[in-house]
Amino acid sequence: MKTSRIPGFYKMTVEARRELLEEMHSFSNDDKEILSKEALSTETADKMIENVIGTFSLPLGLGLNFLINGKEYVVPMAVEEPSIVASASYIAKIVRESGGFTAEATERVMIGQIQVVGCPDIHAAKAAILKEKEALIEDANAAYPSMVARGGGAVDLEVRILNEESGSTYSQMLVIHVYIDTRDAMGANIINTMVESLAPTVEELTNGKVYLRILSNYADKCLARARCVIPPELLKSDGFSGEEVREGVIHAYEFAASDPYRAVTHNKGIMNGIDPIVIATGNDWRAVEAGAHAYAAKDGQYGSMTTWFADEDGNLVGELELPMSVGTVGGAIRVHPMAKLSHSLLDVESAQELAQVIVSVGLAQNLGALKALVTDGIQKGHMALHSRSVAIAAGASGELIDIIAKQLVEEKQIRVGKAKELVDSYIK
Ligand code: NDP
Repeated sequence: MKTSRIPGFYKMTVEARRELLEEMHSFSNDDKEILSKEALSTETADKMIENVIGTFSLPLGLGLNFLINGKEYVVPMAVEEPSIVASASYIAKIVRESGGFTAEATERVMIGQIQVVGCPDIHAAKAAILKEKEALIEDANAAYPSMVARGGGAVDLEVRILNEESGSTYSQMLVIHVYIDTRDAMGANIINTMVESLAPTVEELTNGKVYLRILSNYADKCLARARCVIPPELLKSDGFSGEEVREGVIHAYEFAASDPYRAVTHNKGIMNGIDPIVIATGNDWRAVEAGAHAYAAKDGQYGSMTTWFADEDGNLVGELELPMSVGTVGGAIRVHPMAKLSHSLLDVESAQELAQVIVSVGLAQNLGALKALVTDGIQKGHMALHSRSVAIAAGASGELIDIIAKQLVEEKQIRVGKAKELVDSYIK
C-alpha cells in the first residue's frame, strides 16, 4: 500500500530508501536511472537557459507523514538547508494523528495585464474596452484555442484607471485585466501570448499606446488553503505541556501578525516548506515567492501568512491561504528529469491538488519553526543537523563527517574553526 508513513526512513542508507520507494511506487527503469545518475544532463541544460557551463544540484529529500484530505503524500523537497525536511515530517506526523490536513483550492484564474497610456479621454477609452469585452475575450481565446478546448481560457475582463487625478501623462494609465483559466499550467507563457494578441485592438479602441502586456504574479484569484486542528496533548514536548506549546504558538503568531520585522522571518519559515516542493516539481519559485509575500501585505501592512488560534475545545488551529500559481505541465516540468520524477512521487492529478499539498507543507513548516521557537529554541535541533554541513565545510569526508559532527554537538561548538581542528587531529 502506498503510504507516507515510513518509520525509520531517516536511518536507512540512500540506497535502501531508493529500493523502498521503487517497491512502493512501481518506478519505471527510467525513474530508477534518474535517481541514481546525474539527473539533468549538460546537453538538456544547454537547451533550457543561456550561456550554460554546467548544472547545479540540490539535495532532494522526502517530506513524510503527510495526510491531506485523507490522501497520503510523499513530498519531494529540493533544499540545501538542514532541518527543513525533518521538521516538516515531524509536524505532519502530529497532524496526521488528529486527522491530517484539510485543504482546498479556488478555480485557477490567473491575471494578464495590459497597460495603456496616452488615451486622449481615459473614461471613453475604458467604456470602449468594456463595450467590446466579449469580443476581446473571444480574441484572446482565439490566440490560444487549445486552452479553451481543455475547458479553460480567458473568462473575464476588467478595466482600471490608475492615478486618475494625476496631471502627469506618465503616471495616468488604463490597465486592463484579462482573467484566464490556465488549467494545469502555471500559465505565464499562455497569458503573455493572449494579452500580446489583444494589443493592436486595444490601441484602436482606446486611441492610446500599449506598453506592458504580461501576467501579474499577484495571483489572488488562484488561491490554495490548508488547515489543521491539533489537540494540545499532541503538542507536548520535553518539559512543556501541550497547552504551553499551544499558547506559545499563538503568541508567536500574534507577534508576526503585528510586526513586519517578525513577519518576514515567520514567513521565510513558511517558504522554507513551500519553495522546496515548488523547486522539486520544476515550478517557478520566484513567481510563487513574489505572489506569497504580496498576499501577506493585502490588508495594508505586511503580516503573517498563517493564522493560529485556539478553538472552543482548546485545540490549536492553523490556517494558511496563499496565491499558488503552480502547474503540473509546462515550463521546466516536462523537461527536467527530476521534476518529472517528483510529480510521479507526489501523484497529484491536477495543479489545484499540487497547490493544496504545497500550502499544507507550508503550514506544517511554520508550526515546526514556531514549536521549536517557543520551547527549546531553534538552535538545538537546527545546529545538530547543521553540524554535518559544518564538518564537510571543514574538509571532512566519508565516515569522518558523522564522527566530527557528533563531536561538535557533544562539545556544543558547531563552528567551522572547531571542525577544522578536529579534522586536522584525525588526519595527522
Ligand atoms: P508553457 O508555455 O510550457 O505552457 C504550458 C503548455 O502545456 C500549454 O501551452 C499546453 O500546450 C500544455 N498543456 C498540456 N496539458 C495541459 C493542461 N492540462 N493544462 C494546461 N496546459 C496544458 O508554460 P506556462 O505557460 O505555464 O509558463 C510557465 C513558464 O513561464 C515557467 O517556466 C515560468 O518560469 C515562465 N515565465 C514566468 C514569468 C513570470 O512569472 N512573470 C514570465 C514569463 C515566463 P498545448 O495547449 O499546445 O497542448
